[in-house]
Amino acid sequence: MSQQKDHSYDVIVVGSGASGGWACKRLAEAGLKVALLEAGRPQSDKNFTEHQPAFELKYRNRAKEIVRKTRPIQVKFGVCNEYTYNWFVNDLEEPYTTPADKPFNWMGRLRMTGGRTNVWGRVSLRFSDLDFKSASLDGYGENWPLGYKEIEPYYDLVEKYVGITGSAEGLEHLPDGQFQPPVPLTCQEILFRNRVKEKLGRTVMPTRSANLTKPINGRGPCHYCGPCERGCMTHSYFNSAFTTVADAVATGNCTLISNAMVYKVLMDSDGNRARGVLYVDRSTRQALEINTRTVILCAQSQESVRILLNSATPQYANGLANSSGVLGHYLTAHVRSGGGRGEFPAFGAKPSLGGPKKPLGIYIARFRNLANTPPYKKFLRGFGYEGAASTEFNWDAPGFSETYKKALLEPRTSIDITGFGEVLPRWDNFVELDPTVKDIYGIPVLKIHMSDGENERAMIQDMGDSAGEMLEAAGAKNIRTYAHPSAPRWALHEAGIARMGGDPKKSVLNQFQQTHDIKNLFIMDASGFTSNPCQNPTLTIMALCVRSCDYLMSELKRNAI
Ligand SMILES: Cc1cc2nc3c(=O)[nH]c(=O)nc-3n(C[C@H](O)[C@H](O)[C@H](O)COP(=O)(O)OP(=O)(O)OC[C@H]3O[C@@H](n4cnc5c(N)ncnc54)[C@H](O)[C@@H]3O)c2cc1C
Ligand code: SF4
Repeated sequence: MSQQKDHSYDVIVVGSGASGGWACKRLAEAGLKVALLEAGRPQSDKNFTEHQPAFELKYRNRAKEIVRKTRPIQVKFGVCNEYTYNWFVNDLEEPYTTPADKPFNWMGRLRMTGGRTNVWGRVSLRFSDLDFKSASLDGYGENWPLGYKEIEPYYDLVEKYVGITGSAEGLEHLPDGQFQPPVPLTCQEILFRNRVKEKLGRTVMPTRSANLTKPINGRGPCHYCGPCERGCMTHSYFNSAFTTVADAVATGNCTLISNAMVYKVLMDSDGNRARGVLYVDRSTRQALEINTRTVILCAQSQESVRILLNSATPQYANGLANSSGVLGHYLTAHVRSGGGRGEFPAFGAKPSLGGPKKPLGIYIARFRNLANTPPYKKFLRGFGYEGAASTEFNWDAPGFSETYKKALLEPRTSIDITGFGEVLPRWDNFVELDPTVKDIYGIPVLKIHMSDGENERAMIQDMGDSAGEMLEAAGAKNIRTYAHPSAPRWALHEAGIARMGGDPKKSVLNQFQQTHDIKNLFIMDASGFTSNPCQNPTLTIMALCVRSCDYLMSELKRNAI
């Protein structure tokens, strides 16, 4: 039996990460009354440990087994460690399932205000019309129902607020943005960039990243301490907990309700309008209802679609807002299992265990299947690389005593690059409810069906081969490349399972992330992506969200919702 909380909120936003933070900020600053329901706990500077050395921890951050006991999936990504593990979901309490032959690691499930932005890698890249209109170019899948011109002003707005460091490169397929000054490259990165351009014509640039190099809005520039995934007391990287959410709450119009695990969207008696949501208070296990005029799901792709599947009604027996039948289908993520590493001269760089460490390196822009190049024969679409130079101690040095100590100090400098490639949307990559498993709150969990296709396999192979080619062109020594199957570890960039489109028979959302079926129900996370271009998704998630909020407000004004 659930209890009613009858506050009069204009909008309920579910989830306080990249998208939810922006939805709250945009709407609350415009004067709307917003309830922000977040399954996780409140985040605070007190939890940040970026300056705490490992020797101060009980297990010196070396006992993965301790973390594995409660987070066997989350621990597979290094950002879930002894410092941070209680920010993450307890995998045993909130499981998901997969078919035995299709393992899928659903990592990066946060349960804190800020969601994944607490620990994200911060790489921030724009999409272009090569992405939005990719189906017109190669005939695969569907175009997005909007183009670059429509989203461009929102990229500008979001970048200026978030603070993106980067360099203008003039590439049509990777548009320049409103950049703060770039973080300088190391000598090896400069050498690599110059030689790759000269010999192969490919563009290597400083990573475009949500780390400040200049102060904004009371946030200080980055001081290069390194482990951003443990928080940042100077607020120098973008985390929605201390930026968008804090701004929204400061207006007095946004109420953050923590530990609120949303189970389902509630519909009115005629089944045409969302009237609120049902959630479970994680600390008391009490079921509560809250009413509103509009519901916006921003819980991260799989979580938002899980809520819709759990909200099925007689009218929408296969999931709410699913008259098209595509809800849950076309799951995409990025493949990131091809790349390489090579050694470079140290150029005077010295290894250090506690010295300054810049938290970002290089990005290599996509070079396959561009609009003005002949189609690449082996696969559709493309990939970029993230990478960095690093200088380490010579841990493998031979010998003992003085000889060993001397050899240990010999710097070993290398560049590592990892491809991030587009996964084609396919019907048979999908999520559904598992009819037999519930989480500890009694909410049915997802079963995730995801596997590599032919296109991804060919792309991963090319990521490895092309990494070797570029490292060789740059003069690296001891080059090692790799190209493994992606499963079960895709990049944490899942998207597309409530896709946008112009045709309500083939899509769940319109171009403003409003469900075709229910006018006062929106999904503003990456579920709406019609395809999942190789660029990291979050900048686009945020820009789309602000654009959709502006549309929502104009619709509310004219009483169309
Ligand atoms: C380690 C890591 C590195 C990454 N690196 C990059 C990168 O370099 N560049 C990039 O673009 N992206 C990166 N990403 C992805 C990026 O973090 C996400 O794209 C982005 O945060 C997604 O935003 P979101 O609003 O959809 O979800 P999130 O930011 O995950 O927020 C969702 C929130 O919803 C809450 N929630 C979930 N279910 C419910 C529920 N039922 N009820 C109430 N609340 C709920 C969660 O607790 C969470 O706080 C990375 C992610 C990870 C984990
Ligand atoms: S490296 Fe920069 S952004 Fe990251 S935690 Fe340190 S100061 Fe903050």
